[in-house]
Amino acid sequence: MCPLDPSLGSAAPVRRAVTVEQPAPTLRALRIRNGARPDSTVAWCPYCEDVHHHGTGGGRRAAHCVREESPCRVTGYSLDVQGEAEAPHDVVPAALLAGRHRLSDALDGVSAEIRAAILRGVLGKRRAGPAFELRVDRARVSVIGESWWIDLDAFPARPELRSAPVPPSRTLSGRGLINLLAVLYGIPRGDVVMRLLHAVAPGAFDASGWLEISAAAEASIERRDAGEGGAR
Ligand SMILES: [Zn+2]
Repeated sequence: MCPLDPSLGSAAPVRRAVTVEQPAPTLRALRIRNGARPDSTVAWCPYCEDVHHHGTGGGRRAAHCVREESPCRVTGYSLDVQGEAEAPHDVVPAALLAGRHRLSDALDGVSAEIRAAILRGVLGKRRAGPAFELRVDRARVSVIGESWWIDLDAFPARPELRSAPVPPSRTLSGRGLINLLAVLYGIPRGDVVMRLLHAVAPGAFDASGWLEISAAAEASIERRDAGEGGAR
């Protein structure tokens, strides 16, 4: 055990350890008065799109995030107490009250359809539903949910492909749309990310932005893959 601050006495509130090497996002927080009981702190989390409840005061905390993709689950977050609230709901950004559903929930509901639409576009075939089994040159691509695999077609329909050498063994299965597109098209995963972003928001990035975001995306995917490989 390694206390973050040796001066903390036994009366200090018990907090779960957080990873302090990485900078943590700052969340806007409000104080709630609870009568005779200690004040509590509520914060709006943009990653979970939900209110997280904490004890008295601001500062660095272990995250209460439930969504797997929230970076705060690793870094924790810092609560910036900006005033008081009557009720926890007061910390919800006002703009969200215009919609009944959270954006993340809406996107979760259609994510399979979005992936299917992208696959239909880049693989050049039409097929209904989120599960695919498509031919691309000598490859037969199968996708079910997040998992995919590529079989080499021993009897390709196009005659010019029949004499093409069969590629040596390599990773022909995996998980995730970005990995699949990187293997199929032979481009770095960071570039896949940028091409997807460019498809939905053309012209949003200049050249240096493209390089920086691409490199950051590649590094992030590598870290994630390494983490998943080590943890399972
Ligand atoms: Zn959260």
